[in-house]
Amino acid sequence: MLNKFHIHTFGCQMNVHDSEKIAGIFSQSGFQEADGSNNADVIVLNTCSIREKAEQKFYSELGRLKKAKKNNPDLKIAVAGCIAQQEKETLFKRFPYIDFVFGPDNIDNLQRWVTDREQDNNCDPQTTALKTNPYYHTKTLPVKRGGQVRAWVSIMYGCDNFCTYCVVPYTRGRERSRSSKDIFFEVKSLAENGFKEITLLGQNVNSYGITSHENIDFTDLLYKLHEIELIQRIRFVTSHPRDFSEKLIRAIKDLPNVCDHLHLPLQAGSDDILKSMNRGYTFEEYKRKIDLLRASIPHVSITTDIIVGFPGETEEDFQCTLNSLAEIQYDGIFAFKYSKRPGTGAIELPDHIDERTKSERLRKILKFQEDITYRKNKSLEGHLIEILVEGTSENDTEKMTGRTTTNKIVNFYGDSNLTGKLIKVKILDAKQHSLYGEAV
Ligand code: SF4
Repeated sequence: MLNKFHIHTFGCQMNVHDSEKIAGIFSQSGFQEADGSNNADVIVLNTCSIREKAEQKFYSELGRLKKAKKNNPDLKIAVAGCIAQQEKETLFKRFPYIDFVFGPDNIDNLQRWVTDREQDNNCDPQTTALKTNPYYHTKTLPVKRGGQVRAWVSIMYGCDNFCTYCVVPYTRGRERSRSSKDIFFEVKSLAENGFKEITLLGQNVNSYGITSHENIDFTDLLYKLHEIELIQRIRFVTSHPRDFSEKLIRAIKDLPNVCDHLHLPLQAGSDDILKSMNRGYTFEEYKRKIDLLRASIPHVSITTDIIVGFPGETEEDFQCTLNSLAEIQYDGIFAFKYSKRPGTGAIELPDHIDERTKSERLRKILKFQEDITYRKNKSLEGHLIEILVEGTSENDTEKMTGRTTTNKIVNFYGDSNLTGKLIKVKILDAKQHSLYGEAV
């Protein structure tokens, strides 16, 4: 009889939320969460293959578990996520001590595996878990949430964009939107359970509804969810710049509970590189949308993703990316070195960049942005700002932590019963990645 589970999550926010669903299935089946892998009867490695680094981390953890399994043959090891979907049966061949493999669109199969094991049924982990499930998006799975104030809600799965560096359309499949009714009831139930903030998740939320039978788009969905009382903040990730519309800008402006923060991945400042990435916009088109957004909501904060060292990226192209950061003045960026992903178009491109140059460009870009972010944070000193209090700070348990509508973290001294409340703080000190304030 298995009774304790542990999930090791690699990679992105999407995966973190998938792990909450995996935990939800275990909890519903009577399992308890172990306080670490050493005390678990079943360990799930929820993998990510977006970048080589996350993949390497997974393989090294899997190697470590071989010894654990040898010491405890009853230990069950499951591999979930994008690497599971990509490697399929190969994983069993290479690592015969794995017990179960399931992809991001087959999390519900875990339920069957758990039941089969409990009842000693003959389950066939190698052939059942990875069949593509075209109806996955119609299911509402149990979710064991990580917090009590903020919650993630998937509104769609997969992606149809095929950016040439990205594995997502191959691992998470083609784009499918959840029904607005299911999303509405999930958010309503979160509100009834005390959650105050939701983040709507999708690879490209701007194309929500395109694959649906309903006559609805992402902006309509925002208006619908905004009606749910007690949800005080609505965020969303990720927006694709090509599909980011004036209609959405109007919604962010009109709906007070939709946060004044936009994460809009630029990826590169050079039009040649953007074309080679198959991003579907030029820098000028991107910049025009940013200008419209700022003209409408001047205090909005904007963050982005950047890839350096994409195949063929010349010094001139890289300089275009630096120029774009100078021109747009982002509040923050997430920058990564390009890494070869199996099966993607970019692998076939000529002129791959050597590791040293990639690392040097990454260092330069992070340094360049650091000054901009710090200056922006510094400009908030002395301001009175509203935050939603999320709880005790992870880095300093003496302090509480909260977030502005613009997604900036504010730490302050205060009582834990402020958790879940909107309060005003005066910003006293700006740091690189957070602000320090005083509750007013
Ligand atoms: S939009 Fe591009 S980068 Fe984003 S998930 Fe889809 S293919 Fe990947």
